[in-house]
Amino acid sequence: MDKQQEFVLRTLEERDVRFVRLWFTDVLGFLKSVAVAPAELEQAFDEGIGFDGSAIEGFARVYESDMIAKPDPGTFQILPWRAEAPGTARMFCDILMPDGSPSFADPRYVLKRMLAKTSDLGFTFYTHPEIEFFLLKNKPVDGTRPTPADSSGYFDHTPQNVGMDFRRQAITMLESMGISVEFSHHEGAPGQQEIDLRYADALSTADNIMTFRLIMKQVALEQGVQATFMPKPFSEYPGSGMHTHLSLFEGDRNAFYESGAEYQLSKVGRSFIAGLLRHAAEISAVTNQWVNSYKRIWGGSTRTAGSGGEAPSYICWGHNNRSALIRVPMYKPGKTGSARVEVRSIDSGANPYLTYAVLLAAGLKGIEEGYELPAGADDDVWALSDAERRAMGIEPLPQNLGEAISLMERSELVAETLGEHVFDFFLRNKKQEWEEYRSEVTAFELKKNLPVL
Ligand code: GLN
Ligand code: MG
Ligand code: MG
Ligand code: MG
Repeated sequence: MDKQQEFVLRTLEERDVRFVRLWFTDVLGFLKSVAVAPAELEQAFDEGIGFDGSAIEGFARVYESDMIAKPDPGTFQILPWRAEAPGTARMFCDILMPDGSPSFADPRYVLKRMLAKTSDLGFTFYTHPEIEFFLLKNKPVDGTRPTPADSSGYFDHTPQNVGMDFRRQAITMLESMGISVEFSHHEGAPGQQEIDLRYADALSTADNIMTFRLIMKQVALEQGVQATFMPKPFSEYPGSGMHTHLSLFEGDRNAFYESGAEYQLSKVGRSFIAGLLRHAAEISAVTNQWVNSYKRIWGGSTRTAGSGGEAPSYICWGHNNRSALIRVPMYKPGKTGSARVEVRSIDSGANPYLTYAVLLAAGLKGIEEGYELPAGADDDVWALSDAERRAMGIEPLPQNLGEAISLMERSELVAETLGEHVFDFFLRNKKQEWEEYRSEVTAFELKKNLPVL
């Protein structure tokens, strides 16, 4: 038994923890949990806990449904909303096959595999997510419109604003689980919040995002509201993005940084961005995996200045350009040695493990193949005409999930990164979602056609 495992067992006793939840994530990004008694843990650390994976989205083929969940002791935390004795704790798990090999269906493993490749190339990958979401008064399930929990706007600070109390309690809870928060504020739409996590290695960030979503829903319930990470719940308001700042380190040196270079961007940084751009369309089904995701990207109000929308629709990069898919934040003169890129397409409904894996794959491909970075876009690309954009070589992101799926289907990069099983399951599942949506007669058609046709 190693030191971390011993620490977990000791803490369970000292804190009188009676329930240990083993967490993992399905292919679509939903958190799964199985509770075990503390007495089972020694064995769980040793051999893992067996479960039937066939009912988990994307996990097993029917004929090999036995799976093993093996807890990662480094992720042990007591759940603050169940802190009083007897308490409840959680650990993230790796999913294994009965023979002890990593499961081909575990999104956490997909990311770990990509991170191992990154480390073979001599890099560590850091991520800093800005997570947007809505607080709602209700969550109707019959397709009617929800009501935002407040009526504030961007950076508003008003006393009777549910968001302020909410953010204070939510952040306290995150911090007590070892998740550091850097910024938080009210976002552009009524009810919309943003909380930005401190940068961490990508695996910790993905775990933290899973915890984050649960905590937001938990705190919301305690305050009599509901939290949603749906990419675009309202036609007329901006959607919820999960912009993420990425950087690669070589030891403790930022590999994107080069003093004196344009935008202080090294060759590695430039090729990484070039990779993100060249593969942006084919990874879109992963970074934006729902029918609804494309309403955020193409929704009208996102382009109205001052609406705080600002979701990217076109594949380009810019220096501090908020209409661009990739933004290289302004170089801070006092902060030498630091450079990062912000990817703005990702939405809050994405599976963070798969999303960071495909972004990393795209960026590394750029480095390995020495892609040249195309010219940056200084203009507001939404304001340009189609012809102007075409002349500048700026392509649109996929228009909808159907298009994103077709592009992904032909992508070697995504197939290789996700592995055959996740790739096939993901495509099958998303095609079905697209088919269902395509065949549905919507409120839009009824409103538009019925009165006049
Ligand atoms: N809500 C916007 C999006 O969907 C981002 C707004 C912002 O942070 N500037 O990406
Ligand atoms: Mg922000
Ligand atoms: Mg924001
Ligand atoms: Mg941002």
